[in-house]
Amino acid sequence: MLRRQQNARVLLGEVTDIDLTARTVTSSVLGRTTVHPYDELIVAAGAGQSYFGNDRFAEFAPGMKSIDDALELRGRIFGAFELAELAEDQAEIDRLLTFVVVGAGPTGVEMAGQIAELAHRTLRRDFRRIDPTTARVVLLDAAPAVLPSFGEKLGGRARRQLNQTGVEVQLGAMVTDVDADGIEIKDADGQVRRINAATKIWAAGVQASSLGRILGEQSGAEVDRAGRVSVQSDLTLPGHPEVHVVGDMMSLDKLPGVAQVAIQGARYSAEAIKRRIAGKSPKGPFRYHDKGSMATISRFHAVVDLGAVKFEGFIAWVMWLALHLFYIVGFKSRITTVLHWLVSFLGRGRSQRVATQQQVYGRLALEHLGPDFEASKTGGLTTDAVGEDLTGRQSA
Ligand SMILES: Cc1cc2nc3c(=O)[nH]c(=O)nc-3n(C[C@H](O)[C@H](O)[C@H](O)COP(=O)(O)OP(=O)(O)OC[C@H]3O[C@@H](n4cnc5c(N)ncnc54)[C@H](O)[C@@H]3O)c2cc1C
Repeated sequence: MLRRQQNARVLLGEVTDIDLTARTVTSSVLGRTTVHPYDELIVAAGAGQSYFGNDRFAEFAPGMKSIDDALELRGRIFGAFELAELAEDQAEIDRLLTFVVVGAGPTGVEMAGQIAELAHRTLRRDFRRIDPTTARVVLLDAAPAVLPSFGEKLGGRARRQLNQTGVEVQLGAMVTDVDADGIEIKDADGQVRRINAATKIWAAGVQASSLGRILGEQSGAEVDRAGRVSVQSDLTLPGHPEVHVVGDMMSLDKLPGVAQVAIQGARYSAEAIKRRIAGKSPKGPFRYHDKGSMATISRFHAVVDLGAVKFEGFIAWVMWLALHLFYIVGFKSRITTVLHWLVSFLGRGRSQRVATQQQVYGRLALEHLGPDFEASKTGGLTTDAVGEDLTGRQSA
């Protein structure tokens, strides 16, 4: 993306510290630590999954935040059908063919709809002993509504469409425990029950990057329970006009954690920095232009909320496709996406069916080995280095 922008340098590494007084960012990769000086800083480290204080759930219910998560989930979902084909015991087959998605926001709704389509359409004729169409897909949420941010009417329609697609929606259902074999739930009436399910997917909450807490401690900016940093109306930290925080890790006027907030915040901050360098007066406060929200439920079906206008169905689905295509970067990626969509939507096929053991078990194996494992495999690259600035300016 930045190949042609000669004054931009992209560096691999995980930012482990930001020093607002020294104006440095420290990053680390495979045991090599680098300190980068900056004049202006934009922090956009996003958010990860939140298990609301129950991080042990992550072992059995992966989140949906990274490419690693996506590959692991693909392996777990397709793997469950394969293992069910091998199983002899009906209770075991039922457990393997039960999929529970926790969180009925846009991400959970889309995931549940996709698994139902996979079971009822894509894999329908692919097995000899099991019948994939008997798979049970459960979408759970502690809240009393599906897609609460879309309002009662669209949420209700989404729920009906999910039921038609074969998704069992259970609301007012709070997850109290997760283990390898299933999930324990407390209903609104206080009853505790269990669903035996091999595949659990967590799409319930977000936790902003831990960099937010580092910035909050040094600047005095408030950090909320989800780890988001309260920024001023120009997206900067108090007392630090040179530091902007944008996207999912910033908190301002209850703006939602969606791509448009991140994109518009990033554009605003870049423009503000350019103005400052050019000696122009600062821009006015950041104003978010809400372009609406969309969520797909199944093939040919989506919901669209444009504020004054709300609708659902096929037109909404076409709009969802067109918009996502528009925001995909690069001509080649757009073409391949369209081809994949054609295969998936018009036929029964899915091109991405391969899963490897590394994808399914890699995350847990690395956690088991501990953080020192990576560093021990890098041939001793442990020296501190000060980043050389190829742009000619001190910026990170
Ligand atoms: C499955 C899913 C579906 C979604 N669908 C939609 C949708 O349809 N429409 C919509 O508007 N929004 C959607 N969202 C939300 C949207 O993706 C986010 O709001 C948006 O990406 C936020 O942008 P960001 O730049 O703040 O963070 P991100 O896009 O998350 O980018 C943060 C980046 O920082 C990197 N990073 C994090 N910590 C560090 C560190 N310490 N050091 C170095 N790098 C770090 C991460 O690897 C990542 O690349 C979806 C999110 C998910 C998970």
